[in-house]
Amino acid sequence: MAESPIASVELHRISLPTRREHKWSGLTEPLGGYVLVKVADENGVAGWGEAPVLKDWGGEFGRYFGETPGTTISVISQYLAGAVCGCPPGEIAEIHERMDRMIKGFPYAKAALEIAAYDLAGKQCGLPVHRLLGGALRRKIPVTHSIGLIGFEQAEREAAQAVQEGVLTIKIKVGVDPDRDVKMVRRLRDTLGPHIALCVDANCGYRTVAEAVRTFRRMEQSNLIYFEQPVEGIERLAEVARAIDAPVMADESAWNAHDVIQIAEKRAAQIVSIYTTKPGGLYRAMEVAAVARAAGIICNVNGSVETGIGNLANLQFAAAAAPVVLSCVVPVSTPAQAQSPGKVAGIYYKDDLIAEPMRFVDGAIELPSGVGMGIAADEEKIRHYTIETVKIG
Ligand SMILES: [Mg+2]
Repeated sequence: MAESPIASVELHRISLPTRREHKWSGLTEPLGGYVLVKVADENGVAGWGEAPVLKDWGGEFGRYFGETPGTTISVISQYLAGAVCGCPPGEIAEIHERMDRMIKGFPYAKAALEIAAYDLAGKQCGLPVHRLLGGALRRKIPVTHSIGLIGFEQAEREAAQAVQEGVLTIKIKVGVDPDRDVKMVRRLRDTLGPHIALCVDANCGYRTVAEAVRTFRRMEQSNLIYFEQPVEGIERLAEVARAIDAPVMADESAWNAHDVIQIAEKRAAQIVSIYTTKPGGLYRAMEVAAVARAAGIICNVNGSVETGIGNLANLQFAAAAAPVVLSCVVPVSTPAQAQSPGKVAGIYYKDDLIAEPMRFVDGAIELPSGVGMGIAADEEKIRHYTIETVKIG
């Protein structure tokens, strides 16, 4: 059974409803319109992965750009599914070779398929995926709650509630208007008191290096732990990093291991935000982590507000990757039947696609210990939220 190859690939375009609007600079579409990938072996054992595709997501002046549900479905069904069928799911390096030989780019499509292969391989071997990545260095993943671009009173209420539920780090989306951003940070610091860690993410929103530096200097009085992606471009990040005391975090500028080499050479950031998707899957994300570690760069795991399917991969990776020492901006994936009215911390969707809720204790998600990704996919729920299905093989 351990060697049973991938026999079929099935794609589900889903639409999972959000509880509230969550926006950041540059985002123009609702979250939750993603693509799920199911791979199955000849015995019918299945693994699941997710491409949390956003057309507005990208970086480095057009070097990187998002996918859409349509492009992801097209690339997987036309090129990638045929390339990986027949390959044992545990042959991850071979799966990457086959996918990269077939078509360049499209890291989100490749990540979804690779994550599904990892899930299936774990089930075939009877092991959780973090064991396939080298084992768990941590069993609790602290959660940063992200406050989107919303009004002052709403942000204060949401942040205070998240903190009351145990969250210790709040990320504030900025990069819109310097005066508004400075006021928002100050008001949240006043609301939450001195002991909660605050950070800001501009999503490349400041127009110039000078605007970013001046704005950060005004916000700095509120004691911020890092300044995430103030402007677009590794060279411009380096200019900001030279001008401020707090560490800069690279997100839109850091997709793969090669980017981290550039970031280290140019001293553009002391922190890199790793995703399971930007580099094209867990195997590639471990490469990013290895380069970051060698360069003395610390990391968090960040994502695109995945559903529980993709978020399980975030947790498996965050547990195994050595330089991931910061709290992670990952959801606390919770199916509707387990949601309590009024709870906000890390819960972005009205429902979720996994059979059990993630366990959120003292501001951290406990690493699920089941085989594969740790918690089973809820196939009935997935069918319920599916708006298009494509079967290959
Ligand atoms: Mg970010």
